[in-house]
Amino acid sequence: MRVVPSICTFCGVGCGLGLRVEDGRVIGVEPQPGHPVSQGQLCSKGWATSFAIDPYKRLTQPMIKEHGHFRPASWDEALGRVAEEFRSALDEQGPAGVGVISCARATNEDNYAAQKFARAVLKTHNIDHCARICHSPSVAGLARTLGSGAMSNSIADIDQADLILVIGADVTENHAMIGARMLRAQARGATLVVVDPRKTRLARLADIHLQVRLGSNIALLNGLLQIIFANGWENRAFIDSRCEDIQPLRQHLAGLTPEQTSAATGVTVAELQRLAFLYSHAKAAFTAYGMGITQFQSGTNNVIAVSNLVLVCGQIGRPGTGINPLRGQNNVQGACDMGCLPNVYPGYQAVSDPAVQARFAAAWATELPQAPGLTSQGMLKAAQHGDFRALMIMGEDPLLTDPDQNQVARAFAALDFLVVVELSLTETAKCADVLLPAAAFAEKDGTFTNCERRVQRIRQAIAAPGLARGDWQILAELAVRLGYPGMAWADAEALFAEMAALTPAFSAISYPALDANHGLQWPCDAAHPQGSPILHEHSFPLGRGRLLPVTQVPPDECPDAEYPFAMTTHRLHFHYGGGSMTRKSPLLERETPAGLLFMHPDDGETLGLLNHQGVRVSSRRGYLETRVQLTDDVPVGTLAMPYHFQEAPCNRLTNDAQDPISKMPELKACAVRVEPLPPDQAPSAQAGSREVDHASL
Ligand code: SF4
Repeated sequence: MRVVPSICTFCGVGCGLGLRVEDGRVIGVEPQPGHPVSQGQLCSKGWATSFAIDPYKRLTQPMIKEHGHFRPASWDEALGRVAEEFRSALDEQGPAGVGVISCARATNEDNYAAQKFARAVLKTHNIDHCARICHSPSVAGLARTLGSGAMSNSIADIDQADLILVIGADVTENHAMIGARMLRAQARGATLVVVDPRKTRLARLADIHLQVRLGSNIALLNGLLQIIFANGWENRAFIDSRCEDIQPLRQHLAGLTPEQTSAATGVTVAELQRLAFLYSHAKAAFTAYGMGITQFQSGTNNVIAVSNLVLVCGQIGRPGTGINPLRGQNNVQGACDMGCLPNVYPGYQAVSDPAVQARFAAAWATELPQAPGLTSQGMLKAAQHGDFRALMIMGEDPLLTDPDQNQVARAFAALDFLVVVELSLTETAKCADVLLPAAAFAEKDGTFTNCERRVQRIRQAIAAPGLARGDWQILAELAVRLGYPGMAWADAEALFAEMAALTPAFSAISYPALDANHGLQWPCDAAHPQGSPILHEHSFPLGRGRLLPVTQVPPDECPDAEYPFAMTTHRLHFHYGGGSMTRKSPLLERETPAGLLFMHPDDGETLGLLNHQGVRVSSRRGYLETRVQLTDDVPVGTLAMPYHFQEAPCNRLTNDAQDPISKMPELKACAVRVEPLPPDQAPSAQAGSREVDHASL
């Protein structure tokens, strides 16, 4: 047996693990001792990695759908068909009618190749990925206030904080090693504050839990700021030296009272005043937030409200203190960094900047598109309108993870051609016209970038099963078939070197430098050859931090007589994403085998429900059947449901109302109705939509 160092393929923490390899198979994993993030530990998902890539449960051969059924095909035939379909869509609709949805689970190298394929080969900026539905408001909001949308601190900085403020993030479930670090910091004396409508595990253990009303984040953050200003607790020295536009923010909040904030949020005036005092007086406040901030139609303004609080109190730019969006997927930070977004090239270089455009055109030796691209949601909407023909989806499962599943299904049905590059037959993969088998992380070389901007090496430990191939190799061959030879890299290291040469924040990063350092945190350039554990120490990318007044906006859909409950979505510790990897593990599946509806016992009593009784849950978009879990984790009137389970897909219910700036759909709040099933009736996994017969897809 040998052990190959690698990085966990699940969440954005980026724990170091060793792949135990025997007879050409990964037979288990072990934690990397001395790893700066995980410190020789892994969570349950990390330990289950070998199940997730089990070669016997993988796609191993290209498949082409004929008469509604997949048949095996050679790579030559499958890639020939993909190239032909894209060429035909380009001829008929032009570059606006084709696009790529890249993958936040794939490597930086794969993502760099995906955006280059879209831009240099298909001549479109229609390139996006699932950051659209997790942290696009962080990218947009922090770009407006600071100039950078990434975590400002390192995970290890939690150890130096005397106050930890977690807003809208279920950290022990979704970023387990960060949650554990926060609890250790609390044990040694730091004050732990959690703001969340649900009593999460961390909230129950926190010193202070503010159980805010669902969707009232801006009201709460503005209310805290008003109390801070009213008491003169703001950090005037920091504001004077590092910020601009304080007066408009002061005026915006001048008419507000703590009582109004209390009424809007459900948090008592005493709790508001206590947190405002503690946060503004902390020596080092580590502010972390998650999708409880971003997944709203006010997502970008929610992020700006967090940024306002951080800047007014000067809680940024020092060890232990800063603003830290907790990125979800193992490489969602990297997929954004690599330019898999419709408005930026790698390194967040704007596609609208003629100098940037010219630089990439020269480096890639081709003309590049001028027209701005579509987001992933924009591509799907355009398909429904008949304006979008051919789509490549790499390793993502929007049919399960995007809002309003029926809209996604309609969009897929409207496409002329869908090619999916995947490890296994996901719900989205079932809709493909051509299915291409991909290599998993243990089967390729490359890099992941974790949520603290740490670029880390992964290494090929085993061969891919059957005929499966790496993503960038697939794209490179397709590029040749479509007439572009500029993606013929010798190996992953050569690809990375091309990217680093075009991306200033990566300019001093190379594979040998990563090997020597447990990775490097960008920006890593001539001025920061050892990387940057802390951002914004002396200035912001914008120069001065901007304080922007924002106003509370309620969720698009609030409870009413017809749909009397507010429903939010969440994730469970033992599963990940659409469950296509974690649900292969019998150990993880044993822990949480079903997608339950979480409901307060008082609501259960009102509806006459027994614990674990079957229920039918309906929204304006569709319905499903599941079982109810009665728990005071959720407040009266609010329900919660995880989205990992294809047999109880909560995104059949969710609302796709969008944040106008980032186009983030409002996954965290919609209105639903709950009806009991007879006590002896099991929930059906065949529930569906009002308009689409899902089974016919
Ligand atoms: Fe993997 Fe995240 Fe768990 Fe670490 S915390 S082992 S990166 S799933």
